[in-house]
Amino acid sequence: MRIVIIGAGECGIRATLALRQEGFDGSIDLVHGETHEPYERPPLSKPGPDGLSLKPISGAADVLAANITIHHDVRAFAIDRTTKTVALSNDETLNYDRLLLATGASPRRLIVEGKEIAQARYLRTYDDAKALYDVLSPDYRLTIIGAGFIGLELAAEARRRGAPTTVIESAPRILARAVPAELATRIEARHRAEGVAFHIGHAIQSINAVRLITLDDGTEIAGDILVAGIGSIPETTLAASAGLALSNGIAVNGFLQTSDPDIFAAGDCCSFPHPLYDDKRIRLESWRAAQEQGAYVARAMLGSSDPFNAVPWFWSEQYDLTLQIAGIPSEGTKTLTRGLDADSTILFHLNDGGRLVGASGLGMGNRVARDIRLAEMLIAKGICPDADALEDSSVSLKTLLSPRS
Ligand SMILES: Cc1cc2nc3c(=O)[nH]c(=O)nc-3n(C[C@H](O)[C@H](O)[C@H](O)COP(=O)(O)OP(=O)(O)OC[C@H]3O[C@@H](n4cnc5c(N)ncnc54)[C@H](O)[C@@H]3O)c2cc1C
Repeated sequence: MRIVIIGAGECGIRATLALRQEGFDGSIDLVHGETHEPYERPPLSKPGPDGLSLKPISGAADVLAANITIHHDVRAFAIDRTTKTVALSNDETLNYDRLLLATGASPRRLIVEGKEIAQARYLRTYDDAKALYDVLSPDYRLTIIGAGFIGLELAAEARRRGAPTTVIESAPRILARAVPAELATRIEARHRAEGVAFHIGHAIQSINAVRLITLDDGTEIAGDILVAGIGSIPETTLAASAGLALSNGIAVNGFLQTSDPDIFAAGDCCSFPHPLYDDKRIRLESWRAAQEQGAYVARAMLGSSDPFNAVPWFWSEQYDLTLQIAGIPSEGTKTLTRGLDADSTILFHLNDGGRLVGASGLGMGNRVARDIRLAEMLIAKGICPDADALEDSSVSLKTLLSPRS
């Protein structure tokens, strides 16, 4: 059997290695569309005092030793499903029996008054980060459009470097998509204390040639560097032109299989039905999900029959605060709070039936990690935990994992 994997990000690399770990000894071609060796993206927005360096994806070196053909700096540009071939930008053609699309996502472009803003920078690749950090200093005013994770992590890094920093967000609050308001308020307060200026709840009306931004209330914001962190778009170009079904990304079933049974998709580029959430279709943009889906899809391509059901998990670091989210908080209708210490809190999100469907933790350093890990196990088991026990930090969440009947 011949397997072709397109995309050597977190997901593509994990899938490649897992295929060999599962004992697959057929041919594997990995199409890597970037010039650098496969690298981690999370450090790009949080380089910290050590500065930016290209951190290879752990295990990427093992790929070289595992008898895998890597096509470096080569894009796949067409899939022919009839002949089961992939055409590459270097004029090569690869034959496949199973094909994995691990094509990730790209930053949503900043469009104002119907035009893409040419001066806007983005933060997705190592080259984006390098170009940005080469100039980020107290001498340049940074304006960030979008108060999502990438924008806010960048704001923290910019303040660490002393750059005057302004964040513009059109939604009524920061981190509106994924973080409960209570925790978002604390994160915003921390940014303000570090000197970040916010304009929240205002849309951009215009941006002129010298990066002068005018908001819908007439406020003018002058800046030298403009970065847009307004979300990402799943990379579906190949899938779309091959006629595969799409739905907020490449639509896959519970086995990460596309509408063509020989083609799979995993990582940031796909949406899948999640069994823990009544098979609701979700798309994750998270490092661990990319790893887990990569390892899972390797088994699925070899015929495994259990659907993908890992609990979603995400983390973000801003200053000395760490945010961790397990499950899907927005699926909850009731929230319970567990205070760990003056700076560290866990919120538990329960659905109407009392089942734990999400947990969000914010705290100093690694303080919330243990409880979030246990919450993740509770979510995976579909447990309806006792409310008093959840709120009482002297009760170990471990004791709730085996509820008495
Ligand atoms: C700056 C930044 C910070 C982040 N921080 C965090 C964090 O703190 N916590 C967290 O959980 N997640 C974080 N993430 C998200 C996490 O990094 C992603 O979810 C993860 O990298 C997705 O992996 P992937 O393999 O699906 O996609 P990607 O890493 O995007 O890899 C896809 C690869 O496919 C290649 N490709 C696409 N099309 C083609 C083609 N036609 N031919 C050849 N190659 C192609 C792309 O060039 C890319 O190299 C962050 C992301 C960014 C950008």
